[in-house]
Amino acid sequence: MLRLDGATVRFGARAALDAVDLEVAEHEIVCVLGPSGSGKSTLLRAVAGLQELDGGRVLLGGSDQSGVPVHRRGVGLMFQDHQLFPQRDVAGNVAFGLRMHGVDRAEQAARVGELLDLVGLPGAERRAVAELSGGEQQRVALARALAPRPRLLMLDEPLGQLDRGLRERLVVELRQLFGRLGTTVLAVTHDQGEAFALADRVVVMRDGRIAQTGTPLEVWQRPASEFVARFLGFDN
Ligand code: ATP
Ligand code: MG
Repeated sequence: MLRLDGATVRFGARAALDAVDLEVAEHEIVCVLGPSGSGKSTLLRAVAGLQELDGGRVLLGGSDQSGVPVHRRGVGLMFQDHQLFPQRDVAGNVAFGLRMHGVDRAEQAARVGELLDLVGLPGAERRAVAELSGGEQQRVALARALAPRPRLLMLDEPLGQLDRGLRERLVVELRQLFGRLGTTVLAVTHDQGEAFALADRVVVMRDGRIAQTGTPLEVWQRPASEFVARFLGFDN
């Protein structure tokens, strides 16, 4: 459903994405791992259309996305720095963007209720986001990203600000939720445990390139290079 063909993004002389080829199948959950600066966020931004390519192509459902703006790509985005709107209640946050997609009010309310049930916040429509815990706010952000029913959901460090216990619980819930919805997911995380718990497949990046891709078990058992082994911490 997603394909990158030689996708390249340069900042000055440096390639943040260096001729990356990647395919993500329908319903697949792929986690992108790699050191800081290896190009993980740039990869997601390029797929979303927030970052123009200097070479190569991004295809969604087989069609070339060059020149297609963010809101027409059918992708849901949840970035760590994507803040909720504090002056709107939970429902206002989740429904944000639905009007732009031409969804009428009754349908908006129905979808908000459905999504709040899904993310484990039933009946939270009228609550003020400022009163929610960090984990609850993350759930609202997730519901907002899912509201337009994106064909591809992209998450950049979605649970980054939460404590470990909460993250571990949420990851299990997320995996079940995505399975139930059949959502295709491309997620960036710093946390290997999170990637291995969530992903059908992991992609390890290094200097704008893919160092290895495989199931968590494959990558864990047979790191393709010294770099991957070291990144996974096998020399410690
Ligand atoms: P982190 O784990 O720290 O979030 P990352 O893997 O997401 O890192 P990117 O943000 O994709 O890394 O950045 C890849 C490279 O591109 C880095 O060297 C970064 O400095 C550079 N870069 C990213 N965005 C820009 C920009 N807007 N202008 C210049 N350089 C950029
Ligand atoms: Mg990043």
